[in-house]
Amino acid sequence: MIKVLVVEDEEKITRFIELELIHEGYKVIKVNNGREGLEIAEKGEVDLVLLDVMLPELNGLEVLRRLRKTSDIPVIMLTARDAVMDKVSGLDAGADDYITKPFAIEELLARIRTALKKRIVTVKKDEDVIKCGLLSLDKMKHKVMYDNNEIELTNREFTLLQILMENKNIVLTRDVLIEKACGYDYIGETNVIDVYIRFLRTKIDDVFNTKIITTVRGVGYVIKDE
Ligand code: CA
Repeated sequence: MIKVLVVEDEEKITRFIELELIHEGYKVIKVNNGREGLEIAEKGEVDLVLLDVMLPELNGLEVLRRLRKTSDIPVIMLTARDAVMDKVSGLDAGADDYITKPFAIEELLARIRTALKKRIVTVKKDEDVIKCGLLSLDKMKHKVMYDNNEIELTNREFTLLQILMENKNIVLTRDVLIEKACGYDYIGETNVIDVYIRFLRTKIDDVFNTKIITTVRGVGYVIKDE
């Protein structure tokens, strides 16, 4: 489940955002001051932060500046109407986006989706061998191993596994997986990803009695690095 941290001291707004996000299937963690918000965001256990600018203890811009020293987690700033300076400072300090209060919930949801997607694209791993627990994937040798056993995969299975492993701990939607595994111009069956996930599970999970790929209902798939 995608976890969103809401750092906002106006209870009414927090409550409104929380209800809507839960309704959309997100998990919500809320705090009402900047210090706590920074602490939680730094732990890296949330997928996105909605960060108000005017906050007690530590203001939103300061939270963002400190957070960016250690984390590239998507951050959407919540700014007051017409606070142009806040927007500019926020983007300068590394915010992915901002939204002006009051906002329509649809707009916020769209921005959240975009920010999460952007993150998927910007996560780039340069290492040749990617590891998740006992599973390792060698991009150069085109080889997948589980606990010293080689696993034979077709090209497409390999590509799909590589995408999931390169973005480990990030839930990838079917659309994103199709685009990356089959190409932008793919026009075949939309359940193709489910089919290949099943093949991967048959070759890895069933054989080694493990559970590598997690289904996130209504969203997509993720490989978690335990
Ligand atoms: Ca505030």
